[in-house]
Amino acid sequence: MKIAVLTSGGDSAGMNAVVRAVVKAGILRGCETWVVREGYEGLVRGNTEALSEQSTDNPSVNLPEAASPADGASVNLIHNLRFGDGELLKDGTGDYLGTRSLKGRYIVRVGFDDVRGWFAEGGTLIGTARSKTFRTVEGRMQAAENMIREGIDALVVCGGDGSLTGADVFRAEWPKLVEALHAEGRITAEKAQMHAHLKIVGLVGSIDNDMSMTDLTIGAPTALVRICEAIDNINSTASSHSRAFVLEVMGRHCGWLALLAGVSGGADFVFIPERPPTSESWENEMCDCIQKHREVGKRKTIVIVAEGAIDRDLKPIKADYVKDVLAERLGLDTRVTTLGHTQRGGRPCAYDRVLPTLQGIEAVEALLEATPHSPSYMIGIQENKITRIPLMEAVAMTRAVSSAIEAKDFDKAMSYRDPEFKESFEGFITTSTLEQRKLPPQQRIKVAIMHMGAPAGGMNAATRAAVRYCIRHGHTPIAVHNGFRGLLDDNIHELSWLGVDSWMARGGSELGTNRTLPSTDLGAVAAKFQQHQFQALLMIGGFEAFNSLLILEEGRKHYPAFHIPMVHLPATISNNVPMTEWSLGSDTSLNALVDACDAIKQSASASRNRVFVVETQGGKCGYIATVGALATGASLVYTPEQGMDLDTLRRDVRFLKTRYTLDAKGKSEGRLVIKNEAASQVYNTDVITRMLKEEGGSLFDARSASLGHTLQGGVPSPLDRARAVRLSLKCMAFIEREHVKLLSQPSRTRHATPDSAAIITIQSSSLKWVSVQEMVAHADMENRRGKNPWWSGLKELAETLAGRPQLVGLH
Ligand code: ATP
Repeated sequence: MKIAVLTSGGDSAGMNAVVRAVVKAGILRGCETWVVREGYEGLVRGNTEALSEQSTDNPSVNLPEAASPADGASVNLIHNLRFGDGELLKDGTGDYLGTRSLKGRYIVRVGFDDVRGWFAEGGTLIGTARSKTFRTVEGRMQAAENMIREGIDALVVCGGDGSLTGADVFRAEWPKLVEALHAEGRITAEKAQMHAHLKIVGLVGSIDNDMSMTDLTIGAPTALVRICEAIDNINSTASSHSRAFVLEVMGRHCGWLALLAGVSGGADFVFIPERPPTSESWENEMCDCIQKHREVGKRKTIVIVAEGAIDRDLKPIKADYVKDVLAERLGLDTRVTTLGHTQRGGRPCAYDRVLPTLQGIEAVEALLEATPHSPSYMIGIQENKITRIPLMEAVAMTRAVSSAIEAKDFDKAMSYRDPEFKESFEGFITTSTLEQRKLPPQQRIKVAIMHMGAPAGGMNAATRAAVRYCIRHGHTPIAVHNGFRGLLDDNIHELSWLGVDSWMARGGSELGTNRTLPSTDLGAVAAKFQQHQFQALLMIGGFEAFNSLLILEEGRKHYPAFHIPMVHLPATISNNVPMTEWSLGSDTSLNALVDACDAIKQSASASRNRVFVVETQGGKCGYIATVGALATGASLVYTPEQGMDLDTLRRDVRFLKTRYTLDAKGKSEGRLVIKNEAASQVYNTDVITRMLKEEGGSLFDARSASLGHTLQGGVPSPLDRARAVRLSLKCMAFIEREHVKLLSQPSRTRHATPDSAAIITIQSSSLKWVSVQEMVAHADMENRRGKNPWWSGLKELAETLAGRPQLVGLH
């Protein structure tokens, strides 16, 4: 099969990763792969210049045929086209009018190596455009002719709902277009028969996360990172001058970016299209809320306005007007910041490398399985699983949100978004307003909050959310500093609403962590619980927190003080807590790894051909190393789960030698080997580096880099912060429910059930409570990790995309 891939509509981070994955996966499945430059416009323009005009003096490897590309002349054109390929001419609306000095080839064959390293780059390297011509039948007919001329009848389109609609129209019309082309003598009968049907798969590239039936669109997580960076920067200046800032963010029909930025950035108020303020005067509602914040001593105000924000009468809410309201009614020194296109640009975050890679691979599979009668699919992600959704169903559902908004049916609009969206909105209200919803006095409790183990991004955000929930419901949040050690030293104090205000963006652990387990002196720990009258415990941490919970639950046999609801919120960069797919901090550390590896790779390429052996933390859990390898395009990955032996090392050296022998002459290439710190006691990072240096000879050099504690990341990622809020609020609701259950028992003989000592887990994107006793059965206690983690298969995938299995037997 000949597969072409194009990017269309507005660009988004991650589009290059899509192209890379489609090309690599296509070739691995025995297909010929092509890219179409400048979106649909490129299809319409096709190839007017002969192939010979393209320079091919840099032949690349077209795996799996490896050493001799089957069609050396037609691969690796992209390197020659990426630069200086002319100026695009666009009209005022952004629609494509033409080009100047382009070399006349828009549909270009590419090889395995042509897309190397692409996913570190933002935007789309093959170009995108809005094509007026493609909207016409004549334009689409020309596009069909150009594709058929190259023998292509399978297309992957990455773009927004417009682009995917265009794809569907094209496919539905294709048989007629082919018939007409044949009738007009533009293609032969044989070609018409050979390409009677078009196969199409869509991938959603959109920074707004505005497509229904998929949880995240490609580019949205990176845009959120950019916005949160801006908010974090603004926070310090706002606080210094006691100013208010109104930030306008993208999202014409979808408030996801504004809402998640509001949650992760700790904003005071957000305006989104799906849920306008409910009161008659939103101006009063906003001023009321912000006035209260100022009264308790807040020095800064952040209001986020989505581009498409409206009031309940559908009147647009604009940032400049919000600013005037704040300045005039509250007398605040207010500034407007419009982030504009900075939100689109820049290097993709880790999520926008992993997601498009997995989706691109699935797109190729969907094309291979497509029949003339199967629907066109859109590849999405639902509940952490890559899914295929009938494309037009998703587009129709997306449009239904806009229709519901237009009909002022905001509940319906919210219900069409995924459940996380609604929860995020409720979470924002809970953590951003001072309005209280106090429970009856007997249900109000004293909640101890503790951090355990190593710091992880999102620990402070989770604590902030828990504190604000407590205050809203009339509970008393108590900080226990430095874990159980601190408890034994009475290092505790009550937390306040304002005191945790700036914790959203803070890395590390504001409470201080400690690895001391309660078993150090269980009786004394119970006495402290009793002395301070704790009625619930929230522990935020990694494997130690799980272990501590187990000890406390078992301690209930002897100590009544532990008969209270006790929960563990997993937070660890190792992501080694059993049963949960994600722990807080795992996204932050993956981003830290990606940042470090991008820099290392650049240096490795700049010097002589160099292999960098990068050592990661993770204890005996290979999560960061494995997913990090997929997110950075590492050539090899070593994990404790798989271990290392001499045979593997010998194979890997052979692979690297083959790889460097096949590289283009004169082009310096850097490569990464990612190794978990505990992958082997004998073959440590130093040994492997020296071995590679020795074996590399004149082909390549080797160096090592140990990322160590840098992987804890400085500032927590927005996804970790948003997840922290969501999970923390669920923990508090669980504590309340379990406390109410206990209230029915006489206070002196209260007996908590084993289920009331539980861990909150993310399993297939839904939140599930697992009792600590149940979790033990799924834990490898000796190696401090879970059994059968979801990511274990990704090691082989990462190495396959780097060509290891294909090349290892060649030389
Ligand atoms: P974004 O979300 O960034 O706006 P989008 O994919 O929705 O991305 P559009 O401008 O709507 O962007 O569409 C991109 C291109 O897709 C259009 O310029 C046009 O070439 C093609 N297209 C869109 N809708 C159709 C259609 N109904 N029929 C044919 N082609 C279409």
